[in-house]
Amino acid sequence: MTFLERTTDTRRLRHWEGNLEADYIYTSGLAGERFFVALRDDGRLLAARCTACGLDYLPPRIFCEDCFAELTDFVDVPKEGQVAAVTVAHMDRLGAPLATPEVWAFVTFRGIRGGLVHRLLMPPERAKVGVSVRPRLKPKKSRVGAITDIEGFEQARS
Ligand SMILES: [Zn+2]
Repeated sequence: MTFLERTTDTRRLRHWEGNLEADYIYTSGLAGERFFVALRDDGRLLAARCTACGLDYLPPRIFCEDCFAELTDFVDVPKEGQVAAVTVAHMDRLGAPLATPEVWAFVTFRGIRGGLVHRLLMPPERAKVGVSVRPRLKPKKSRVGAITDIEGFEQARS
C-alpha cells in the first residue's frame, strides 16, 4: 500500500488493543468566569458588549466575532427572552425512557447575538417558538456558579 491509497480497514494497520485513560478539564475562560460568578452571586445574566460594533454576545466572549476587538464591557441580558427553537426529549442521554418528557429550547434575547440552550419549565404543548420566557434561578445559597444555577426558563407573565 502506498501513501496515496486510503486506509479503509483499520485492522490492517499495526495496532494493539487496550484502553487509554483520557480525562479532560475545560475551563470556562475569562468571559465565562465572569458570567458564572455574576449568575451565582447576583443572579444576573451577563452578555459581553463590543463598543465598536454595538454588538452584545451571549454567552459572553472576549473577542468580537465581527471586528476582533477585545471585549471588556459586560451588560445585563434583558429579563425576558424568546423561545427560538424547541424540542421535547422522551429519553434520557442513555436512551432510557423518561417518566415525563423534558422540554429544551434555544432562548434568545432582544438585541443579543447568541442565546442559551436550557430546559423549558412548561408542558410540551405550551412550548412554542416565540413564547416569552424568563429564567428561574435556584435559591442563592444553592448556586454553585454553573449553568445549572438556572433551573430553567418559565413562561413570562406579560
Ligand atoms: Zn465588534
